[in-house]
Amino acid sequence: MHFFAYKNGELYAEDVPVMEIIKEFGTPIYIYSYGTLIRHIRAYEEAFCEVPHIICYAVKANSNIAILNLFAQLGLGADIVSGGELFRALKAGIKPYKIVFAGVGKSEDEIEYALKNDILMFNVESEAELNKINEIAKKVRKKAHVALRVNPDIDPKTHKYIATGLKTSKFGIPIEKALEYYKIAKSMENIEVIGIHKHIGSQITDTKAYVEALSKIISLYDKLAKFDLKIDYINIGGGLGITYRDEEPPDPKDLANALIPLLKNKKGKIIIEPGRSIVGNAGILVTKILYNKETENKNFLIVDAGMNDLIRPTLYGSYHEIQPVIPKDRDKILADIVGPICESGDFLAKEREIEKLSPGEYLAVMSAGAYGFAMSSNYNSRPRAAEVLVKGDRYVLIRRRETYKDLIRNEIIPEEIL
Ligand SMILES: *Cc1c(COP(=O)(O)O)cnc(C)c1O
Repeated sequence: MHFFAYKNGELYAEDVPVMEIIKEFGTPIYIYSYGTLIRHIRAYEEAFCEVPHIICYAVKANSNIAILNLFAQLGLGADIVSGGELFRALKAGIKPYKIVFAGVGKSEDEIEYALKNDILMFNVESEAELNKINEIAKKVRKKAHVALRVNPDIDPKTHKYIATGLKTSKFGIPIEKALEYYKIAKSMENIEVIGIHKHIGSQITDTKAYVEALSKIISLYDKLAKFDLKIDYINIGGGLGITYRDEEPPDPKDLANALIPLLKNKKGKIIIEPGRSIVGNAGILVTKILYNKETENKNFLIVDAGMNDLIRPTLYGSYHEIQPVIPKDRDKILADIVGPICESGDFLAKEREIEKLSPGEYLAVMSAGAYGFAMSSNYNSRPRAAEVLVKGDRYVLIRRRETYKDLIRNEIIPEEIL
């Protein structure tokens, strides 16, 4: 559910006409709905209210500091995957004791930075990393709190690039090895084992894989107890899918109904790490039509947003609904909606049925709030888009459009050798 809808023949973000925003800030532009964000967070809070829990929002889905600040105000924690994300989360006011740190390649600097800020825990992905964390914790005279990220070997039936809990995946510790690694971790002087973590993938549209994965994790949890390994946190990861087209993913309540029976009678807090399901449908990308181009067998709508702004169609073959900001009930054509980038992979949609719009009109790419701006780049030296947050009848800029100067800000002409 979201708050982007047509009123009086034009698209609104909450109570603001999208046209009003683009007149002020131009395109391409990301527009987020405050009300939608709040609604999604409440849905999680309500769904899991029976069990002690922390929602650690997955920062990588959308890391704008205004959005993180809103989540901090709502008491959320953060699931981070880099030092940069830790910096953002702290700057936004997220409490360090609600921050969990995942990722297979944490660097020494990142580990030290996290230790010094007393984050809740590291989700450890290998034995080598465990050794490294122990070593750095010793150096900075801290005890590192860790969970082991366990790979339960479950197929979440999603795009192969976003499946993370299969045997062949680079993520986590194979479940057969977990007990052994827990014992090793327990014996380490500067490590305190406090949790168990899994995250099997993203855009999951069925609770079945969650139930299977959690069942495996819970058997491990029970086994650990026998070895006097006390686990205070069970982290079930993120990954709940959203509707891009006609998917009917479970909502947080369905997820909770499926999982809570497995978690009842387990001591310890539950951690959930949703990303996409909170921000995905809370954002749109608005783009202007620059040209119509017809070739012998194709229609192209050439727009001012490219794969540098939204790479999901190119990277995963993802589908996003694309709607005119002001629909006019004209005949429909079949068109490829493509960006200005010099790559044939630069498209937002292929063979899409859409009304025949003209240059100067605008399109809204729906469900673009997750892995949209966060994955954007400056490829083709394109300044990154502006971002705006709408709340009721008000809207504010939360990231200004980059300028040409921003593009070369960190570059140096080395006069001594040129
Ligand atoms: C990416 C990620 C998430 C969030 O996934 P979504 O599909 O956006 O909910 C949660 N946990 C970990 C460890 C991740 O890497």
